[in-house]
Amino acid sequence: MSYVDEVLELVKKKNASEPEFIQAVTEVLNSLRPVVEANEELYKKNAILERITEPDRQFMFRVPWVDDKGQVQVNRGFRVQFNNAIGPYKGGLRLHPSVNLGIIKFLGFEQIFKNSLTSLPIGGGKGGSDFDPKGKSDREIMAFCQSFMTELSKYIGADVDVPAGDIGTGAREIGFMFGQYKRIKGTFEGVLTGKGLTYGGSLARTEATGYGLLYLTQELMKCHGESMEGKTVVVSGAGNVAIYATQKAQQMGAKVVTCSDSTGWIYDSEGIDVALLKEVKEVKRARLTEYAAARPSAEYHEGRGVWQIKCDIALPCATQNELLIDDAKQLVANGCKCVCEGANMPTTIDATEYLQQNGVWFVGGKAANAGGVATSALEMSQNSERLSWSFEEVDAKLQNIMVNIYHNIDDAAKRYGMEGNYVAGANIAGFEKVVNAMLAQGVC
Ligand code: NDP
Repeated sequence: MSYVDEVLELVKKKNASEPEFIQAVTEVLNSLRPVVEANEELYKKNAILERITEPDRQFMFRVPWVDDKGQVQVNRGFRVQFNNAIGPYKGGLRLHPSVNLGIIKFLGFEQIFKNSLTSLPIGGGKGGSDFDPKGKSDREIMAFCQSFMTELSKYIGADVDVPAGDIGTGAREIGFMFGQYKRIKGTFEGVLTGKGLTYGGSLARTEATGYGLLYLTQELMKCHGESMEGKTVVVSGAGNVAIYATQKAQQMGAKVVTCSDSTGWIYDSEGIDVALLKEVKEVKRARLTEYAAARPSAEYHEGRGVWQIKCDIALPCATQNELLIDDAKQLVANGCKCVCEGANMPTTIDATEYLQQNGVWFVGGKAANAGGVATSALEMSQNSERLSWSFEEVDAKLQNIMVNIYHNIDDAAKRYGMEGNYVAGANIAGFEKVVNAMLAQGVC
């Protein structure tokens, strides 16, 4: 049995109740086979794969808080510190009822490689809670965030572990958590990113994941002799990533015709009205039915369905496992040329393989959505030097980072004879740097 297969067996046995984590490890290790085979003796002796698939540590804790009726509620909090070979742990906090340890571990594991790809000094981690922010008052959100941070503050710090936003954790939640951290520790430090601009946040962080996704997509198109101009784009999601991906795609001359949320989706033949979408989702925090009600060119449909719309480019920007094999078949049948993931692991493994086998240029989230964490790392730099950079400065650095990521993953795939396999390229490029750091630092 090969070393990769041995470790996959081990991971499956040790983490049997965590399907998303097993899915992520399987995808990454399978694509690393050529690198591992080329260095098998060294990696095996140093147990590189066993070490990289086992988190440094993981915290699971009770989060008690009082709701508006005076009832005590209890949620479960998580922080997984996966690997800090190249820098402090860095990764978002997800607040969603579906959150469990396996999901946080899958996200933390992927984060190691994504963070490495940014070329900035950040390790991999992730956290969150099964708390559902939907329908909660601001006071309830604050009560939850303060309780969550009361425990989390024991394990994080500007040079230790720097969490950020993710699904359900936006500027409001980061603000409440930062306030509580400051209160407990009595120190003003860059312990969280995605902060408000008045207290250490970075300009362009809000836009960074969506914009970065488009900078990379544009470079990919350019390198295939194409441009974004006049292309039809299908986007899923209606949150932070989806909104700013849509905005940048439109600035680049493309037409984005869909968005979606957890209950339904919109087809807008005139192209998504970003200002209206922001009003509905960021200000009113309402359903997409309100978008359709305000826009004559828009159709609202219940359930899921954006991938059936004919497009040149598809950008899944909602959540994991939202683009399935039948969706991939539909995209290919409709002539879609390119799929770049704004969300983390939105495409299932079989759907990814189908897209790749049918000539679709496919870039996974690890590379394509790395603009968010890259700009978080830029926020950390600004906090450390007690300075803030202009929007243009941050945006230019982001653009540069995303273009470099595209070329790094393209080169890595070519070096191992897998030209055009950007998933393998991303895993290999991210992995090589982390492994070199791990080997240099000895057994730890
Ligand atoms: P948001 O919470 O802002 O938006 C998430 C969107 O996805 C919402 O429209 C939400 O619908 C929808 N959604 C969530 N869960 C489901 C589900 N189970 N089924 C269908 N739709 C769903 O999150 P972000 O935009 O920040 O994150 C989106 C993805 O991008 C995630 O995978 C995240 O990990 C990833 N990501 C985010 C980064 C960032 O900087 N924000 C950085 C890198 C990756 P509804 O409105 O109904 O809740």
